[in-house]
Amino acid sequence: MEYQVIYAKRRSVSIRVTKDLKIEVRAPKGLSRDIIDGIVRKHAGWIEKRLKKIQSQPTVLYNPTKEEINILKEKTRDIVLPIVEKYAKIMGLEPAKVTITSAKQVFGSCTSKKHLNFSFRLALYPYDATEYVVVHELCHMREMNHSKKFWSLVETYLPDYKERRRLLK
Ligand SMILES: [Zn+2]
Repeated sequence: MEYQVIYAKRRSVSIRVTKDLKIEVRAPKGLSRDIIDGIVRKHAGWIEKRLKKIQSQPTVLYNPTKEEINILKEKTRDIVLPIVEKYAKIMGLEPAKVTITSAKQVFGSCTSKKHLNFSFRLALYPYDATEYVVVHELCHMREMNHSKKFWSLVETYLPDYKERRRLLK
């Protein structure tokens, strides 16, 4: 396991896994490499876990810059608008407004005024998942709740919606 040692005025040793998958060990000045090696080896399991966790997360979601969000918004708009158009036609609905938002917690929402909102994050997910989110929000124009009736409506248009929904996790 490769790691970088940063000697500092401190009493204890700390290990950190950075977002770009580097291992940084902070150690007191003068501590021998053998001892540090031993400590790192002892924590190999924890380090592996951290590395895997960081690798499995889309880095852009950590803290996207304004610029990144704007790029993703454009991308999302290009993907979402044709889907809205397609399903609104099939379902006989007329959304008043479609907005791509900077929302980080939700993928989409629908207001009582028929405004549909979609998060820029959708650009980071598979097309099938985005299609599900669009149909979900369009169905809210008919059913403003998550009742059985609502879900059977979703299923009418996307029989495999449960699989698609899983892609968002
Ligand atoms: Zn909903």
